[in-house]
Amino acid sequence: MNYKVNIGLEVHIELNTKNKMFCMCKSSFGDEENTNVCPICLAQPGALPIPNKEAISLAIKTGIATNCKINNKVVFDRKNYFYKDLPKGYQITQFYNPICTNGYINLENKKINIREIHIEEDAGKVGKNNIIDYNRAGIPLLELVTMPDFENSEEVIEFLKLLREILLFCNISDCKIQEGSMRVDINLSVRKENMPLGNRVELKNIGSFKSIKNAINYEIKRHINLLENGDNINIETRRFDEDNNITIFMRNKENIEDYCYFKDPDIIPINLSYDFINKIAKNMPILPSEKRILYKTKYNLNINDINALLSTPKINKLFEDLVYLNNNPKEIANLISGELFKIINENNLDIENINFNNIYISNLINMFLNNKISRDTYKNVFFEIIVNNIEPINFIEKNNLYIICDINLIENMVIEIIKQNQKSVNDYKSGKEKAFKYLIGQCMKSFGGKCDINIIKTLLLKYIN
Ligand SMILES: [Zn+2]
Repeated sequence: MNYKVNIGLEVHIELNTKNKMFCMCKSSFGDEENTNVCPICLAQPGALPIPNKEAISLAIKTGIATNCKINNKVVFDRKNYFYKDLPKGYQITQFYNPICTNGYINLENKKINIREIHIEEDAGKVGKNNIIDYNRAGIPLLELVTMPDFENSEEVIEFLKLLREILLFCNISDCKIQEGSMRVDINLSVRKENMPLGNRVELKNIGSFKSIKNAINYEIKRHINLLENGDNINIETRRFDEDNNITIFMRNKENIEDYCYFKDPDIIPINLSYDFINKIAKNMPILPSEKRILYKTKYNLNINDINALLSTPKINKLFEDLVYLNNNPKEIANLISGELFKIINENNLDIENINFNNIYISNLINMFLNNKISRDTYKNVFFEIIVNNIEPINFIEKNNLYIICDINLIENMVIEIIKQNQKSVNDYKSGKEKAFKYLIGQCMKSFGGKCDINIIKTLLLKYIN
């Protein structure tokens, strides 16, 4: 039997605003508990919420970047429910009139439709020792709701990565899943082919892209097993147990009627002018999707390099600065996707927390491309710039790292190495490629890596044969 999977997403995104959604409290993560609070976000009687203009602008920016229609009337509603982290007893949201509707994001081979993006406020958080921290209460959120267009976990992850890219590059959110500034709820159903949509299960509170993928894959298998056995699928909310790689029942799903939505009488509807929306549209940065096309068609880069260059705005700026200065996108893309990522991963560095001068890297690339230093020196000095921000020209001068150009000198050394390593020479002659690599290594070593590897190769072949 063939099964069809339908997945829709609800993504909550904390906005990068200075202040909360309806008051002037600071909007930040990690501060001491209950220090960013006031009568408005604590819902004291008589306190009146005032919508945050910056948050509305960011919502419009998100809508434009995801091809949505922007609604020029901003209206807020109340979603009524009781929970200890919700001081008002209701959450302010946009139920009837979301600010953005009918958008989409294009995956490599598929279009994912976005039903709506609406603005709401975050709730507080039950923290350590059961203390409720209201610092988060009132932080502006966007909720982006897709249509159930996804058919597998790969598409979901591809979408989330593209969405994250947009939000980072437009400076809308920092999208840190582990800090909760991007939270993904998954609605999933499985049906037999040609049958109507199956019963929907919601997966909540999943802490990483990897877990999202595992949770979806587990849930699809669970549904198929139930259907194969002729069992019913219950409409419910489940969470993901990362340790055991399974989903677990959390609660039965609430109905929309349970929330008694109605228009918030404390907030006057806002009419957005055409100029206000147009100004935001005109000031949009170049979107990552446009950069992807440019890097592919103009620079002829492959998808792995492109993904690496768009992994964070800081890395992307480094790439674009260097392309501007050195005009060699292929070499620069190699350096970043290969060497830079190797250094970051091997030394456990956070790219946001290290400082290096882009001009230094540009100077280094110039020296390498003009044959002043060998590839070995190039890599070693690049490491020094990334980790210690050293200035390369003085460093190379001081340590005498210029490439050795004296052909006689190199030739004599190669002859000497061949003499000393007759066994390897014979091994190479009998077909062992590894032996040749060893000989190259010995030559490079005797010159402290300051030699052009191609000259060494040519000379070795000349004298071996
Ligand atoms: Zn406040």
